[in-house]
Amino acid sequence: MTVVISSITDLRQRLLPVRRDGKTVGLVPTMGALHLGHRRLIELARRENDTVVVTVFVNPTQFDRNADLQGYPRTLEDDVAICREAGVDFVFAPDSAEMYPPGGQLAWVDVPALTEHLCGPARPGHFRGVATVVMKLFQIVQADRAYFGEKDAQQLAVIRRMVRDLNVPVEIAPVQTVREPDGLAMSSRNRRLTAEDRKTATTLSQALFTAEAIVRGGERSVDRVQAAVLPLFHRHPQIRLEYFSIVDAETLTPVETIDRPVLIAGAMWLGATRLIDNVMIAPV
Ligand code: AMP
Repeated sequence: MTVVISSITDLRQRLLPVRRDGKTVGLVPTMGALHLGHRRLIELARRENDTVVVTVFVNPTQFDRNADLQGYPRTLEDDVAICREAGVDFVFAPDSAEMYPPGGQLAWVDVPALTEHLCGPARPGHFRGVATVVMKLFQIVQADRAYFGEKDAQQLAVIRRMVRDLNVPVEIAPVQTVREPDGLAMSSRNRRLTAEDRKTATTLSQALFTAEAIVRGGERSVDRVQAAVLPLFHRHPQIRLEYFSIVDAETLTPVETIDRPVLIAGAMWLGATRLIDNVMIAPV
């Protein structure tokens, strides 16, 4: 049975006997509008834990644009139905006042070194909002394992580092990016694309796969990989490319030569919708 809970106190009370009985708890933090990507995280959590908590919270502190926050899809009823079908025990869906009570948030979690590049510069405060809300969820749920998608690779790196640096007793489980049949990474934001933009959206994953193939073919120069790939974006005047970068997989700082594991990552805009994607590659 899936129980929907909106209060922190209620959730804590429900989880007390679970933990007292020595059962494990798996946590899947989401912003809702669940799709097959989220579904994969939930399935893994279901397989590896006695109790599964899915959180559905559109976290205002991680939005750098108010229009994006206002327009973010909210489909709680459908989300609960998906969770029910997937055998989730608790859906935690608090409102903003529950997570950020009046009086304001004075304590924040920041991992600045990992947010200097990629999405960081264009989204001031975003990762601070993410790290802070995830830390709050860790404190509320006290899960044994928490599941995060590799689609948001920078977010995953920030959370891993936060857990390490602040000794948070939780195991972070990374989950491979789930894609549409044409390669587009699944995302709640995809449903905001027009039919025309939906077709063009595959440019990002195609560019990443092309870059990956070039690197696998032996190319080690970032400049040359970029020179080969960037024209793919320029073919579509409706695309606004925010970045297409190759960074050290661990430090997330740009490299010139691909001589270690790297993350190839991009962000682009179609109309008012921002899409991100990445591939990880370890050259041999
Ligand atoms: P969101 O609701 O977009 O904040 O995502 C919640 C979690 O699902 C995050 O850990 C995401 O990385 C993960 N996620 C979102 N889309 C995908 C996807 N296509 N494949 C795998 N994980 C995903």
